[in-house]
Amino acid sequence: VGFSDFTFKYFAQSKPTLKNINLTINKGEKILIIGPSGSGKSTLGNCINGLIPHSYKGKIEGSLQVAGKNPSAVKISDLSKSIGTVLQDTDGQFVGLSVVEDIVFALENDLVPTPELRRRAAEVAELVGLGSVLKNSPQEVSGGQKQRTSLGGVLVDDVDILLFDEPLANLDPATGKKAMELIDDIHRKSGKTVIIIEHRIEDVLHRNVDRIVLMHEGEIVADMAPHDMIASDLFFRYGIREPLYV
Ligand code: ATP
Ligand code: MG
Repeated sequence: VGFSDFTFKYFAQSKPTLKNINLTINKGEKILIIGPSGSGKSTLGNCINGLIPHSYKGKIEGSLQVAGKNPSAVKISDLSKSIGTVLQDTDGQFVGLSVVEDIVFALENDLVPTPELRRRAAEVAELVGLGSVLKNSPQEVSGGQKQRTSLGGVLVDDVDILLFDEPLANLDPATGKKAMELIDDIHRKSGKTVIIIEHRIEDVLHRNVDRIVLMHEGEIVADMAPHDMIASDLFFRYGIREPLYV
């Protein structure tokens, strides 16, 4: 992923939401994008996964490459072969009658033969720990299981880049920790590029990332190793962590 002097303004807004973004995310890297609410993190993520400009319209300046492609110049279905997104709000994302159907939905669309479909679904269900609820309705499982269903759907497609927009949002600390461990595991084993977006910093988050990018009012104000970021006063200055927790 490479942003170069990239600026984006939603048509509905008078000012740009992303300003002069220069950011390179290398293949296999695990990166945390953090910043206060409204700083433009989801907008940045949606530029990477192609929702901008294909679903959300606006004016782009500068350039962006994702898996060697310019998202503006290709169809969103071409991009979804390279990148999978797990959104914060899973409501309305599920179309199948059961968890397993939702996991394999992307593959059915790609006309993958049934035996391979079954094999891959079983593999992924094992990985995300959904074996016991595979036949349940995705509407009726818990919030954490919904998020794992969404994750399963992304994993089964075997994309190179995984993007998580606030994956901890609906999870209690223990489930959140498990979800993070699962993401770590997948990253270690598969070497996929992992991009995690969060608005607060928690211990489980910065432990295993290669870099932290800090956003504020649509700009990248810091991009450094977790150790250096934590040693600085940046998190307090930008309201990512309460001074209380020092
Ligand atoms: P949060 O932590 O609350 O999720 P964020 O950092 O992800 O915040 P964004 O969702 O990227 O922030 O929003 C950044 C700014 O862009 C906000 O001021 C918002 O009003 C504006 N914005 C976001 N989505 C749209 C949209 N679809 N149309 C117009 N403006 C939008
Ligand atoms: Mg957001």
